[in-house]
Amino acid sequence: MNLARFPRRRYTEGRTPLEFLERLSAKLGGPEIWIKRDDMLDFLPGGNKTRKLEFLMADALAQGADTVITCGAVQSNHCRLTLAAARKEGLECHLVIEERVPGSYSEQASGNNFLFHLMGVDSIRVVPAKSDMLAEMEKTADELRRAGKKPYVIPGGGSNALGALGYVACAEEILAQAFDKGVAFDGIFTTSGSAGTHAGLAVGLWANRSGIPLVGINISRPNETQVPIVRKLAGETARLLDIEEPLPDALIQCVDGYVGEGYSLPTKEMVETVALLARTESILLDPVYTGKAFAGMLDLLRRGFCGKPERVLFIHTGGVPALFHYQKYFDGAY
Ligand SMILES: *Cc1c(COP(=O)(O)O)cnc(C)c1O
Repeated sequence: MNLARFPRRRYTEGRTPLEFLERLSAKLGGPEIWIKRDDMLDFLPGGNKTRKLEFLMADALAQGADTVITCGAVQSNHCRLTLAAARKEGLECHLVIEERVPGSYSEQASGNNFLFHLMGVDSIRVVPAKSDMLAEMEKTADELRRAGKKPYVIPGGGSNALGALGYVACAEEILAQAFDKGVAFDGIFTTSGSAGTHAGLAVGLWANRSGIPLVGINISRPNETQVPIVRKLAGETARLLDIEEPLPDALIQCVDGYVGEGYSLPTKEMVETVALLARTESILLDPVYTGKAFAGMLDLLRRGFCGKPERVLFIHTGGVPALFHYQKYFDGAY
C-alpha cells in the first residue's frame, strides 16, 4: 500500500501513545490490556475523526472548497472536530444535527454543543430522527452555492473510503509501534459506529498480513445491519487502495450485545467502566462510545470470547467532551 499518494493534511505531531494499562490489568488479573490513545489526537481535545479529516480536508482544499458541511447527533464529536479542522484551515463550517432522541437538542447544552458555539460555528440546522442526512446536507450545500460559496460535503462520521484511510494509516502506526516496543497483540477491539474506524483498521491490519483479529463493538445497530455497513466500506477502502484481492468475509467481526436501550443511552456497565478507568488509570472514556465498547471488551474477555489472549489492545477513539454533558448518567450510579 502506498498511502503517501493521497493528499493529506497533518493535524497531529508524531504518533499517539500506545500504553500498557498496568494497574487495570493487575486489578483484573490479566490479560495485559493496552490502549491506543487516539483521544490524544489534535484539536480541542482530539478523537478518531481527526485522522479521517486529514484526508477529507486535504481533498476539500484540493477541490477549492471554502466551506465544509457535515452532520451528526446532538453531541457529535465528529461535528466538533470537523469544525475545529475548518477553523484551522480558515474555512466556513455548517452543521446539520439529527435529533435522534426527540427533544434532546438544546442550544444551551454543554459538552460538544458548547464547543460548537465557542468555535463560532457558521450555522446549525436541526432535523428530526431518521432524516435523510445526505439530502439534508445537499440542501444546505445548494443554499450556500446560491450565495456564491464552494461547499464540500463530509458524510456523517467522516466515514467514506477517503476518511477510512485515516484508520488504514492508524493500523500501520500500531504495527510499527508494537514492533518498536516488542509487543505482539492477540486481539484488537474498537468501537463500530459509522464504521470508518472499524473498516480502515480491518483493511490496514489485513493488507499488512498482521494476523491480528479485530473486533468491532457496536454502539447503535444490531449485527445484521452493522456488519454489511462495515463490509461495504472496507471493500470501498480496499478498492481506493487498488487492492484487487477480495476481502475475506470473516475479516469483519461485530458484537452487538452492549448497546443497551439505544445510541447514547446509558448502561450500568458503561457507568462502572468509565469510573473504573478514571480510578485505575486516570483515563477518561466517554459515555456514548468508548465507555460501552470498553465494557463490552471486558465482558468478552471474561467470557473467553477470544480464547485466552495474553495481550489485547483497545482503541481509545476519544469523545471526552460528551462526558460533561452526560454527567447526569453518573449521579448516584456508582
Ligand atoms: C465517531 C466515534 C466513534 C465511532 O467511530 P466510527 O468511525 O464512526 O465507527 C467512536 N468513538 C468516538 C468517541 C466517536 O466520536
